[in-house]
Amino acid sequence: MTDTLPAFLSLRQRIAAACTQAGRATDSVTLLAVSKTRSADELARLIHAGQQHFGENYLQEALPKMDALKTHPLIWHFIGPIQSNKTRDIAARFDWVHSVDRLKIAQRLNDQRPAHLPPLNVCLQVKIDSEDSKQGVPLADVGALAATIQALPRLQLRGLMAIPSATSTDHNRAAFEKLAMTQQRLHSTMPRFDQLSMGMSDDFETAIDCGATIVRLGTALFGPRHYNQ
Ligand SMILES: *Cc1c(COP(=O)(O)O)cnc(C)c1O
Repeated sequence: MTDTLPAFLSLRQRIAAACTQAGRATDSVTLLAVSKTRSADELARLIHAGQQHFGENYLQEALPKMDALKTHPLIWHFIGPIQSNKTRDIAARFDWVHSVDRLKIAQRLNDQRPAHLPPLNVCLQVKIDSEDSKQGVPLADVGALAATIQALPRLQLRGLMAIPSATSTDHNRAAFEKLAMTQQRLHSTMPRFDQLSMGMSDDFETAIDCGATIVRLGTALFGPRHYNQ
């Protein structure tokens, strides 16, 4: 097992430096540790160093890790594709969902969010460039979907998420800027629509420059994944 601590500390510094460079407060960006394929032990080392936010893509993989780490006060983010038959567990176990891209899924998460928990934080996943396959709502439809989801009482709509196709830094910058403009426009009428989940290991500094508030880091933090997902 590689030691993730030096990578963690250096990434925190790079995030702070990117914030300063962009004229933003150094605490204005949340580091979301994308922990798919990583063991509970690997997560525990980061938890001891102060990491609280973890992102998982696969429910079956996430649940045992969540159980193993349940004595820690963690904030769990679901960031993967959502099948209808998984919404009940996602609504019950996660604090955030970044990958809502259709009303049917939002409705199910709303209906299944347990009454004793606060509303589930959700971001809409946007299909930001045409290369990006099936997932994500087209940019032109974001406003209408946001308005409908905003009315669901057991969800708290928080912002937008995207995964650009990563063809080049310039390409991703243009995608991040488009996403940021749309988020800002909606934020003007929805005060809590204040989050931009964008930027991964290879482009998070560009994303921060464009206004990202959550960067999702996997390989930069934990090293290469052992299987391809
Ligand atoms: C895997 C994944 C990440 C992390 O990607 P890295 O390039 O390893 O940093 C971020 N977001 C989503 C949605 C992912 O599936």
